[in-house]
Amino acid sequence: MPFALLKHGLSADYPVEVDLPPPCDLKPRYDVVIIGAGGHGLAIAYYLAKYHGVTNVAVLEKAYLGGGNTARNTAVIRSNYLTSEGVRFYAESVRMFQELSNEFDFNIMYSERGQLTLAHTDATVRAFRQRAEVNKHFGGRTEMIDRQQIRELVPTLNLDPGHLPVIAGLWHIDGATARHDAVAWGYAKQAAKRGVEIHQLTEVQDLVVRNGRIEAVKTNRGTVQCGCVVQAIAGASSLLMAKAGIRAPIQTYPLQAMVTQPFKPFLDPLVSSSALHCYVQQTSRGEIVFGGGSDPYPLYNTRSTLDLKESLLGHAIEMFPFMANAKLMRQWAGMTDMTPDYSPIMGLSPVENYYLDAGWGTWGFKSTPICGKTMAELVASGGKVPALIAPFALERFSRFQQVNEMGATAASH
Ligand SMILES: Cc1cc2nc3c(=O)[nH]c(=O)nc-3n(C[C@H](O)[C@H](O)[C@H](O)COP(=O)(O)OP(=O)(O)OC[C@H]3O[C@@H](n4cnc5c(N)ncnc54)[C@H](O)[C@@H]3O)c2cc1C
Repeated sequence: MPFALLKHGLSADYPVEVDLPPPCDLKPRYDVVIIGAGGHGLAIAYYLAKYHGVTNVAVLEKAYLGGGNTARNTAVIRSNYLTSEGVRFYAESVRMFQELSNEFDFNIMYSERGQLTLAHTDATVRAFRQRAEVNKHFGGRTEMIDRQQIRELVPTLNLDPGHLPVIAGLWHIDGATARHDAVAWGYAKQAAKRGVEIHQLTEVQDLVVRNGRIEAVKTNRGTVQCGCVVQAIAGASSLLMAKAGIRAPIQTYPLQAMVTQPFKPFLDPLVSSSALHCYVQQTSRGEIVFGGGSDPYPLYNTRSTLDLKESLLGHAIEMFPFMANAKLMRQWAGMTDMTPDYSPIMGLSPVENYYLDAGWGTWGFKSTPICGKTMAELVASGGKVPALIAPFALERFSRFQQVNEMGATAASH
């Protein structure tokens, strides 16, 4: 080894950069307690510190940072939803994602490769036309394309799978992926740098609510008093809400995904088909990721099932027949909190100073930056709901003002 390199490695000018400070004791009180160190909880902490100077903040995580759904999702980022409320919200998130590597000075491997959703029926073509128009209205790049254009875009795609020939496609140029761990770690590092405490292996087991107001959280490491609480715990939302006496129309389902051995690059866009209950993408490592809809019954369990593997891969092979010989490397699942309208629940709750970041079902990774930013605004203002998230309030379900995104969510995530 060259002597100069050895000397540099051992010198005091070469300190090891620490991503997070070492674990410390919990303080007796924080201005803000955020429950859950997934992408959402960490993003809220970061934007609170960055834009509002709120740093007496603790993020409490029962396991390890970014190990929940943030680590399990298939990283689809898109804004080609159906409703104006949804498109506006997700489009802003896509814009923030595009800048995130610069913002963190840390590569989140944002990769804009477009998302293609296949139409197999006339009814789907009509719905896609509406989506394309709503998208364009809010600045998204989405258009209808025909079979020939699809063939040029994805030459390896079988356009006549079984009984469901492809008749058109919704081409969403803004569709992208990013490295999910990098997103969580980017937010964690930047939040910690600004004074936020991130406590792993710290489970919130109960909530202390007095006179309709949150006062403290009880953890496996003791009770912590708090000015306010944000819960951002994805697939466990209704369990903790129940401890605060809050009811929400959430049902929790497992959602599975799987990945093959690596292949040479052959598939640039993300391809999905609701009729075939399947989406397919190739990662930067060459692996092919498959996903579909949630399991058909509510359950708290992250096991992988043969049923899902058989049905999902059957459809994936119809789309890309050469994959019949691919070797599957991994299969996994996460818990998804599904709402009746396939939209999230963000904002105030019936408990004073207890804020909700919930109901993220199968669509929450792409929302991480904008959810973090708007939830931070809500918390810092003491409960003034930003216009962008006002339509996603919990009470929309009792006012019959749902934001129905079912038709634009399905198997596309
Ligand atoms: C297989 C799969 C594929 C998906 N694909 C996509 C996709 O392509 N695009 C997309 O946009 N979305 C996708 N999603 C959804 C997305 O992953 C989630 O909506 C998103 O990650 C939610 O982020 P979060 O930070 O809220 O939750 P999480 O990352 O789950 O973080 C919540 C954290 O809270 C912790 N926690 C729970 N209870 C407690 C407690 N009592 N005390 C302390 N901590 C607690 C958990 O340990 C966890 O770390 C997918 C989900 C799955 C399962």
